[in-house]
This record gives sequence, structure tokens and C-alpha cells, in this order.
Amino acid sequence: MIIDCHGHYTTAPPALGEWRDSQVAAIGDPAAMPDPASLKISDEEIRETIETNQLAKMRERGIDLQVFSPRASFMAHHIGDFQVSSTWAAICNELIYRIQGLFPEFIGCAMLPQSPGVDPATCIPELERCMNDYGFVAINLNPDPSGGHWTSPPLTDRHWYPVYEKMVEYDIPAMIHVSTSCNPCFHTTGAHYLNADTTAVMQCLTGDLFGDFPDLRFIVPHGGGAAPYHWGRFRGLADMMKKPLLDDHLLNNIYFDTCVYHQPGIDLLTKVIPLKNVLFASEMIGAVRGIDPGTGHYFDDTKRYVLGADLSNEERQQIFEGNARRVYPRLDAILKQRGQ
Ligand SMILES: [Zn+2]
Repeated sequence: MIIDCHGHYTTAPPALGEWRDSQVAAIGDPAAMPDPASLKISDEEIRETIETNQLAKMRERGIDLQVFSPRASFMAHHIGDFQVSSTWAAICNELIYRIQGLFPEFIGCAMLPQSPGVDPATCIPELERCMNDYGFVAINLNPDPSGGHWTSPPLTDRHWYPVYEKMVEYDIPAMIHVSTSCNPCFHTTGAHYLNADTTAVMQCLTGDLFGDFPDLRFIVPHGGGAAPYHWGRFRGLADMMKKPLLDDHLLNNIYFDTCVYHQPGIDLLTKVIPLKNVLFASEMIGAVRGIDPGTGHYFDDTKRYVLGADLSNEERQQIFEGNARRVYPRLDAILKQRGQ
């Protein structure tokens, strides 16, 4: 089977965005805050938005399952305070739970109610709800809830440890995923996302997080940002810092997805990074939605690139399914329960 470990609900009915707008407009005026119960989205609307978009493309491309989370750019953790983020995350996660109930092709990954300057331990009740009540299999962790100003300590800092302790307890991985950039220097999906991916790898290289948490697993999305392309630089820096070889220092814990939108990028990724660390993903429907005039195919039809890479069938199977089942044990358990 083919597991896509990176998809977001980017096609939610307009009512979701309208509710969010009214919430943002009410910041500073508690009496004007909209009631979450005032947001009405029917199962029929959810069905339609999924069937005509993500599911239609998955069927066309032969993707069996997508690990599905709320729209990343909508998380916007920099807006409002913890209470604003908390209400918003609860609404977004519940929608994912409903999608998971309507379609076996989608399995939930939680958004956390992060807020700049707030202890990440405050995210734990929502994380637990998503694991215990919703049966989700992973979380998205935003290393920069300030939205492009990088005011939080690095991922290796004890600041983040309460979240890591819960991840180990539930045996879930985190996709390290930023949200909208509110810093005009950084385009959200063209610069901020890739900067954050690269930054996450470098933070882990500099520290010794996986010495403290040997079982912690991070998926660094968008092909790992610039990390695989500059792997020689990172190996050289590790050498100068007297760190162990990256295979031992990082690659028991860090995985890269295949959200790289051209063949040479996937060729490089699969050549440079051990295949046990590469997970199939498309981020469909996401940042790049058009058709590549050079190939006539959608940029985000990443299955084509994996099929086009110089790999054996066994290696492809590892990228398409085997690695995801190892990195997401709760997903593996669900699939086994289904007899898959
Ligand atoms: Zn994403």
C-alpha cells in the first residue's frame, strides 16, 4: 500500500475561515468572542470537500492513505493568546476526527494549541484528547509559534521536553511544521517552511536531544528543507563540533518526507539520505497546486518521482509503506487491525 504521511485539510468549507476571522476580530474583546458551537459544518459538506479534492487525487494517483492534519498555514499560532489558539486547535482537530470517521483513507495528526512565550506543557491536554479520544497517530510541532520571528528556544532546549515526554509515552512522532510567516522577509511556503526544516535539522545537530530521548522521532517535511542538499556541510560541521557521525547522531530519530516537487530533488534525496529515513508524502493539496509545464504532471504528484528514481521495488516499498509503519506505530496498529 502507499501511505502519504503529509496532508492537510486545505479545502475546508468557507464557514471555517469565517469563524476564524470572527475569532481574530474579537481578540481583546471577550464579549465578542464567537462560540465554537456557532460553527456549523455538515458531514455532507465535509464529504464533498474531501471527495472532490484530496480523495479524487489520491484515487487518480493510487495513494491509499494520508496522515491528515489541520491546514498548516491556518494554525497561525502567533495570533492571539493561548486561549485563542486552544479554541482554534480544538475546532480544527475535531474536524480532522470527523473526516477520519467518514473516510478510512485519512488518519489524524494533531495540531497543538501553541502560543508564543507560553509553556508548551499547556498543549498536553489537547494532545491527550487527540490520542485518547480521537485515535490520532502523530502531532505537528511548530518550532516557531511566533510566525517567522523565532522567539522560542531551539528544539533541543528543555522548554520542549514536556511535549517530548508525551510523544514517548504515546509512541508518536512529530512532524516539525511551522505555520504562516508574519515576517515579510519570509514567504510562508517558499522560504519560512524550508528555513524551518533546515533550522530544525541544524538545531538537532548542535544539541544532544536524542541522547536524552533515544526513541523520539521527528519528520522533517518538504524533503528536509536544504538539509539533504547540503549534507556534506552538515557532516563537516558535526565533525568540527566533535559530534558523532550523523548516521548515529541524527538518523535514528530524524526522517525526511518526499515533498520535493521535481525528479532531480527526489534523486538527490534518495541518494544522499539512507532510504530507511525517507517517507513518502505529497502535501497534496498544499502549497504548490499547478501542473509542471516541463512534464505535464502536477508538481505535487510525488509518487511519479519515487517511481522514477533509481530504486529497487523493495526500496520503493520501504519509502511508500514500510518506513511509515515503523515511524508511526499507532498507524501500523490501526492498519493491522484492519487486516492490512
Ligand atoms: Zn505541510
